[in-house]
Amino acid sequence: MGGTFDPIHHGHLVAASEVQSHFDLDEVIFVPTGQPWQKAERVVSEAEHRYLMTVIATASNPRFQVSRVDVDRAGPTYTIDTLRDLRQQHPDDELFFITGADALAQILSWKDVDELWDLAHFIGVTRPGYELSESGLPQDGVTLQEVPAMAISSTDCRQRVADGEPVWYLVPDGVVQYINKHHLYAGGPGPSSDAP
Ligand code: ATP
Ligand code: MG
Repeated sequence: MGGTFDPIHHGHLVAASEVQSHFDLDEVIFVPTGQPWQKAERVVSEAEHRYLMTVIATASNPRFQVSRVDVDRAGPTYTIDTLRDLRQQHPDDELFFITGADALAQILSWKDVDELWDLAHFIGVTRPGYELSESGLPQDGVTLQEVPAMAISSTDCRQRVADGEPVWYLVPDGVVQYINKHHLYAGGPGPSSDAP
């Protein structure tokens, strides 16, 4: 499951858990992006913060892992590179890529989209506020999966922190504490104003 995870929230975790259980996956690997090319217009928190929050949020689940492949690769993150790296690390495994309805709707604009389907089977999950559809996508490349509706977004979490509103129960407790400890998002939904 790829994502910016700025910060990781319970919508991500429920989707991952539900897909793991439904497809009986050995593990779900969370892959925080390096520089997300779709979010070039806003400043995204340092990759190391997003990576560590993802580790904290997933640490207690033995089936959840976190990969550094995108964080450690220079330049913008493209899912095709993520999948190539994961394929190399797991040559004998079947790979699935979990993505929410909003991201699935954009997939045709992704780099080297024709090759994506050979590298992984895509699982599109429901997300409140977005229509889940496989129109235009190869039928055998994508499976749609309903997951419990969690109307949570990282954008909303960042805005709440900036406004002094709580994010308890929207993100795991350890992530709330990490955000406070490092004063993330305090200056606004884009953490740029956090800089001195
Ligand atoms: P932002 O508001 O910064 O874009 P986000 O909440 O959309 O953050 P991302 O890191 O962009 O989170 O999303 C990573 C993946 O998780 C995407 O595939 C996205 O569709 C999916 N996702 C995010 N939130 C939910 C949710 N509440 N329910 C289901 N899927 C979700
Ligand atoms: Mg998003």
